[in-house]
Amino acid sequence: MTALPLTDTADLARAKVPNLVTELPGPIARAAIERDHSFVSPSLGRVYPLVPARGSGMVIEDVDGNRFLDFNAGIAVNSTGHCHPAVVAAIEEQTRSLLHYCSSDFFLPVYADVCARLAASAPDAMGGTKVFLANSGTEAVEGAIKLARHATRRPNVIAFLGAFHGRSLGSLSLTASKARYRGGFGAPMAGAYHAPYGEPGYIENVIFKHLTPPDDVAAIIVEPIQGEGGYLVPPRGWLAELRAICDAHGIVLIADEIQSGVGRTGRMWAVEHDGVAPDVILAGKGLASGLPLAALIARDALMAWGPGKHGSTFGGNPVACAAALATLDLVDSELSDNAARVGTHLMARVRALRPRQPAIVDVRGRGLMIGVELRSHDEAVAVEQECFRRGLLVLTCGESSLRLAPPLICTETQADLAVEILEASLPAS
Ligand code: PLP
Repeated sequence: MTALPLTDTADLARAKVPNLVTELPGPIARAAIERDHSFVSPSLGRVYPLVPARGSGMVIEDVDGNRFLDFNAGIAVNSTGHCHPAVVAAIEEQTRSLLHYCSSDFFLPVYADVCARLAASAPDAMGGTKVFLANSGTEAVEGAIKLARHATRRPNVIAFLGAFHGRSLGSLSLTASKARYRGGFGAPMAGAYHAPYGEPGYIENVIFKHLTPPDDVAAIIVEPIQGEGGYLVPPRGWLAELRAICDAHGIVLIADEIQSGVGRTGRMWAVEHDGVAPDVILAGKGLASGLPLAALIARDALMAWGPGKHGSTFGGNPVACAAALATLDLVDSELSDNAARVGTHLMARVRALRPRQPAIVDVRGRGLMIGVELRSHDEAVAVEQECFRRGLLVLTCGESSLRLAPPLICTETQADLAVEILEASLPAS
């Protein structure tokens, strides 16, 4: 049976969810998947046969009319929910006046508006900041590597095991979440070192003693909450330790907030929970609610590179910038607070499952960035798939965890519904 899709996304937001009207995947989805296999790069690692057609708020409707509660948010991207009316209106308005003009060569006021908003959002202790806009997270990371090397004239960068910083060759050299991401691509960027995430003392006792002296190190790049690596919250004081190491040796501290930033953890930036001010903040993913935009926010004194040192044809495209301004308005006025409030509720609800659900080993996170660790990798994958079959979209991360990263508009009622489906999807013993 094929359901007729609703006509209007506002109806979709109010519709019953989950609502599964065909087997999964349904007939139209199966045809779409077959076609996809014929033409699309097989490097894309699809996790379950979801074929989205429309989204509104917390709801995704697939091509067969099945409706899912979305706790992926397009992998932490649809921060304001799907097709938020204010974001759509800002995009529509911008498309009527200017689609593109290369910001690397000319002056776009909307580009500067986004930079001003991001500069104002940076922790006060960063002092004055300047901002560069890119199209994707990996580009922001590439920009940060270049900036740190340029500012320090040093070659090396320290990242952490489990990190995900992107897939272009520089950022891939810092990514250390899954070996298969790196395999087959030859030598990584020279000068990339990795330390265990959250382990105090390692950089000074091992890396600086045995691998590279600190005055060869341009930057330490860290996710304040490790995303792809397992939604890991580091021990309190560890980010401050990194700050102290950087201060002692003139190293640039880069906070990769591409997944954790822009309100997801209940603060604009996750580093704020630890009171640590990095030298560079990287944003992406949720910054423009789904349009491609990323940002490199750096202390004034660092971003002292001259014309031509860095640029991008599309980076800071005016339509993406308009979406970002609308997104930042929503995040500042209500969504960051909502993420803190609903995140606390969601975390408590999932933790309350533990006494009766032996499969749950740990629940951790901040705001609406919550990791649920299960007993094994296979168990995490099985629960992810069962949630899909029951109409809840979640993804695994790390070795054996599920990530809960819904849009920041999530309500307590929707959080409760997700917990119910999650519990029903867990193994019986
Ligand atoms: N950094 C972090 C922390 C990420 O989570 C990601 C993507 O998942 C990236 C960088 C790369 O972003 P993109 O996929 O937009 O290149």
